[in-house]
Order: sequence, then structure tokens, then C-alpha cells
Amino acid sequence: CGIIGVLGKSNVVPSLVGGLKRLEYRGYDSAGIATLCDGVLDRRRAEGKLKNLEAVLEGNGLNGMVGIGHTRWATHGVPNEANAHPHMTPRLALVHNGIIENYRELSAELENRNYTLESDTDTEVAAWLITSFLDDGKSPAEAMALSLKKFQGAFSLAVIFKGEEDLMIGARRGAPLAVGWGDGEMFVGSDALALAPLTNRISYLEEDDYVILSRDGATFFDETGAKVEREIKLTQLSG
Ligand code: GLU
Repeated sequence: CGIIGVLGKSNVVPSLVGGLKRLEYRGYDSAGIATLCDGVLDRRRAEGKLKNLEAVLEGNGLNGMVGIGHTRWATHGVPNEANAHPHMTPRLALVHNGIIENYRELSAELENRNYTLESDTDTEVAAWLITSFLDDGKSPAEAMALSLKKFQGAFSLAVIFKGEEDLMIGARRGAPLAVGWGDGEMFVGSDALALAPLTNRISYLEEDDYVILSRDGATFFDETGAKVEREIKLTQLSG
């Protein structure tokens, strides 16, 4: 139900948890974060309130200069830790708002290719479909663009990739996603409010856009894969 992502200059975990707190008003049943630390993906998830996730993090800390976080409002699969986002494969971690309508069909295709899905969510299918294109030798941007063509439904996504310390990819179709511009840091969030303590410089993805972020900035693409400009707006929200 809520997405936050940070490509930062120091440990991003406090900013991710802070962003999730600012997304709580949207409602949720579980939460989680994933980071890339020394090239390795790791995650912490918990059912219930953010304080449960914070307790997990206190017991078993997480670090990293790139990360994503999620508050989930379950649509497919009960609210439990295994179904909580981020969903991970050996190649990526992904958070998702909304619904991938054709997940059954995509899941059957993936199982035919011997990918084993572990959760009951529609979301995990997205993580594995992108992974299957990476396994075919595609770049992260190509894998994302090819996957977006196959997804049906209304959703937004943020993805980080194993071994890619300066990369995050976001996408929107029927659910909002904002990009925040920092100084040598970049952010994504479900709304500008989530990003308010981090930056007041915001660009919104338009319908069917995807965006490739590095710490230097963001490059936006429309559904045809053409590079597009998306205006930077100054928000009045206070952090
Ligand atoms: N459909 C996804 C799920 O059930 C995402 C729900 C959400 O937007 O939080 O896990």
C-alpha cells in the first residue's frame, strides 16, 4: 500500500522506516524493508504494525546505502511475514502497490521454467518475471521494460538489484509514484508526503512511465521505451 526507496549516502534504514511511518495513514497490515549491503540483498519483514518491524530491526539490524520499504495492504495472500514485501529473488528485491491481474498465468509460465514461488502474492510473480529476463541476459532496464509489457493491472513498483549499488528502477500504472531529488541522493515514494523530510523537489511518473535512478538523478521513459522529461516541482510540505 505504501512504497519508499532511497539511494543514499549513508545507511538508508532510518530514512526507510521514517518514510514508512509517513505512509501509515494509508492503512496496512504488514511492513518490510530490503537493502543492498556490499552487493548483497537482505531484508526484514513483520506482520502488523511498524513497531513490530522496528523490534525485528533492533534484534537483527540491517544496513545499506540503497534500500526499499513497503507497507502492505494484502489483496492476494493473507497478511503474514512470508507474504510481506519486499519480495526477493537471488537477483533483486521488489516492492509493489496494487494488483498484477494476470499473476496466475504468469506464475504458470514461470513454474514451467522451473522457478519456484514461495508466497501467495501476485507480487512475487513480478519479482520472478523480471528475474527470468535477467537470467536470459537482459540488463535490469531491459528486464523491467519487458516485464511491464506483460503485466496487467494497476500498480506501482520499486526494484533494487543484486550487485547494483547505484541503481533503482520504479514504474507506475494506475497507482502513483513520486521521485524525489536530493543532493547526491535520490528517492522514490508513493507520495510526496513520504519524501517530505528528505526533499521538496519532486517529479511524478505519468501513466505507464518507468524511471531509472542513480545517485546523480533520474531518467524517465514512457511505455514505448522513449526517454521523456518529467518536470521537477517544489512542494510546500514540511518534513
Ligand atoms: N497485491 C499485493 C499484495 O497483496 C500488494 C498489495 C499492496 O498494495 O499493498 O501483496
